Amino acid sequence: MNNKIKLVMSKADEEFVVKMRRDIHQHPEISGQEERTAARVIKELNSMKISDIRSGIAGHGIIAVIGKKKEGQLTVALRADMDALPIQEQTNLPFASVNEGVMHACGHDSHIAMLLGAARLLKSVEGELNGQVVLIFQPAEENAPVGGSRPMIEAGALDSPKPDAVFGLHVWPTLPVGQVGVRSGFLMGASDRFKLTIKGKGGHASMPHETVDSIIVAMQVIQALQTIVSRNVNPMDAGVITIGKLEAGTRYNVIADEAVLEGTVRLQRPEVRSLLKQRVEQVAELVAKSLGARAQLEYSEGYPVLVNSEEETEMVRLATSRWLGKDALATIEPALTAEDFAVYLQKFPGSFCWLGCGFPDESKNFPLHHPQFQVDERVLPIGAQLLAEIALTYIQEKSR
Ligand SMILES: [Zn+2]
Ligand SMILES: [Zn+2]
Repeated sequence: MNNKIKLVMSKADEEFVVKMRRDIHQHPEISGQEERTAARVIKELNSMKISDIRSGIAGHGIIAVIGKKKEGQLTVALRADMDALPIQEQTNLPFASVNEGVMHACGHDSHIAMLLGAARLLKSVEGELNGQVVLIFQPAEENAPVGGSRPMIEAGALDSPKPDAVFGLHVWPTLPVGQVGVRSGFLMGASDRFKLTIKGKGGHASMPHETVDSIIVAMQVIQALQTIVSRNVNPMDAGVITIGKLEAGTRYNVIADEAVLEGTVRLQRPEVRSLLKQRVEQVAELVAKSLGARAQLEYSEGYPVLVNSEEETEMVRLATSRWLGKDALATIEPALTAEDFAVYLQKFPGSFCWLGCGFPDESKNFPLHHPQFQVDERVLPIGAQLLAEIALTYIQEKSR
């Protein structure tokens, strides 16, 4: 029985995880360009004598399998994302990024190290596993709306062995180290992206009557877009429309011919998506038209809503409380941030949890995607063992 398996993280295992994280942190690569990162992962998997490895999936994706299941046994998948962000690091860490303008500001360096650490632990008990574990090292998580999970699935990465459940985690700076945020059902929002091009008619700043001022039109469009969530969406449903970028004009005394707006739409209920998309288009078009301009919308549907399945989430709770104690379980509220882990959950049952990485010294905590973001490294061995514990708990409990 698997419940006889006791995972022990040695000092060497702990050092390994920290070393991995620092190495990957120092050499970040943006979405789709995770070449060195993937090579490093493969090298480590090889040195653990894991023989079943497929690489180069949907770019730099890697699948590795530990254990061989017998008839009736289960396959559980664990996923880590591998990409960094186009951000200039400002942490002053001795192992800060050597790649100008690129930084592991979302903690995916930690995720890779944790999954490698979990691999070491699981490999050490491979002979006793009553099932098998699929490791997913996924590229391009930050590359919405495409992402890396969908292309990997479409490339057949999870066709054989086909997982019975998929689990993943994300470091979370607002939770202290040692806390695990677990929640079944809705956890994270769907995220779409759009670009609105407003075509006016440029001209001399002193003769507005002979022009169509695209900046004025853009302002009205932005205002009107903000009425969609407040006036068209049921107040009991969550939704957000944010314009994050606005570009227009060339000179102080020239009326801008064109304005370009870029934004994101976030929502909780999949049904709200078509309403928001349709209203963004209508509002932009009609407001622009009323002012003599034209609006052109490019809209891409991004990551779906992330919904954790009930039973699998219970496995995460069980694994956490058995190993770290009940107090380690943190109550968390869902957020409209998005994650392409959601795509796995459309195909497989599973659960995604938030792993506290916050320092006791609050002044050292910065949000994800911040140039000063860093994790309290004590989270690294915890994350590694947690992933392995989840896999073991799932195999053991579900095989009963
Ligand atoms: Zn991110
Ligand atoms: Zn992330």
